[in-house]
Amino acid sequence: MQSELAFIDDLRARAAGAARQNAELRHGIGDDAAVLRAAANSETLITVDLLIEDVDFRLEYTPPRWLGHKALAVSLSDIAAMGGRPRFSLLSLGIPRSCGTAFWEEFFDGYFALAGEHGVTLIGGDTSSAPGGLAIDSIQLGECRRGAAVLRSGAKAGDEIYITGSIGASAAGLRLLLGGKRVSEGEDDLTQQALRKHLRPEPRVEFGRRIGEEQLAHAMIDVSDGLARDLAHICAESGVSAEIDASSVPISPEVSLVETDAEKAFELAVRGGEDFELLFTATGAKAKELVKIAGETGVVVTRIGEVIERSDSALRLRRDGKSIPFASRGFDHFAG
Ligand code: ADP
Ligand code: MG
Repeated sequence: MQSELAFIDDLRARAAGAARQNAELRHGIGDDAAVLRAAANSETLITVDLLIEDVDFRLEYTPPRWLGHKALAVSLSDIAAMGGRPRFSLLSLGIPRSCGTAFWEEFFDGYFALAGEHGVTLIGGDTSSAPGGLAIDSIQLGECRRGAAVLRSGAKAGDEIYITGSIGASAAGLRLLLGGKRVSEGEDDLTQQALRKHLRPEPRVEFGRRIGEEQLAHAMIDVSDGLARDLAHICAESGVSAEIDASSVPISPEVSLVETDAEKAFELAVRGGEDFELLFTATGAKAKELVKIAGETGVVVTRIGEVIERSDSALRLRRDGKSIPFASRGFDHFAG
């Protein structure tokens, strides 16, 4: 691999275009720290995601370009889940010998393509060697209007529960990968779509930002641990319970590739993680506005249940007219 200095020079050149266009950035890559000018009347959102080889991803089946995409995507998803706009990114890398110059070219092609799409500027990071395997620490700064961040803690009994897109495709993709299926970039059948949803997720950046800007949600989270567990996080922070309407959960068609039994398909969809859809609660009175924003941002939104007064079980499942307690456990990725 090239020297650390050449590596950073490369990154600096690739980040320069976006950096010049960013009025709040006084200084990006190249000094001991980046310098940002605080914008009036806004608040800063900061989030970090650590991706460790063989725990969070496997190089064996991951195209480097998609890994670069995903390293940024997971952090953009966190900013979206706060109802914010992503602005600046930092990337710390622990680099093993196995990742050479060609790997990093592709990795950063994926990273910068997604960054460019959302107006995100790379402003720093750190680089070291990691003999035990690749480690990627992705830090993202975002902004929202003062007081406008959408927290997990705002859900109220009587709120409707909504989710964007559909769930389960990523878990199906992971199971297919662990079973030996591999990416073939020319093809676009359901199997390839499942692999792509797992390896190259699309965060709901625009939709999340609009929900925050227009203050349409009481609580929001992105689905990274699975619908059941993430909804339980909202319930715990808000001091409420939630009733999921089983028949309205939008299960991705990809799930049928790995589960034909309806009950097992449902379980995989609600417990499998990494869908990076947005899960939120809002009053029914906002339904029309939600649908409008969904249309404008190219997202489908589905009502999947209702927030209820806190009961002994965080989650309940309504099915065939009956409501029963529902476990909030998620899915253990590589054990699955
Ligand atoms: P320091 O000695 O302060 O850690 P470095 O020589 O590691 O500085 O980094 C020099 C500059 O390059 C800094 O501005 C740093 O933010 C940036 N940088 C280093 N590694 C990365 C990386 N992986 N991604 C983005 N910027 C990086
Ligand atoms: Mg350093």
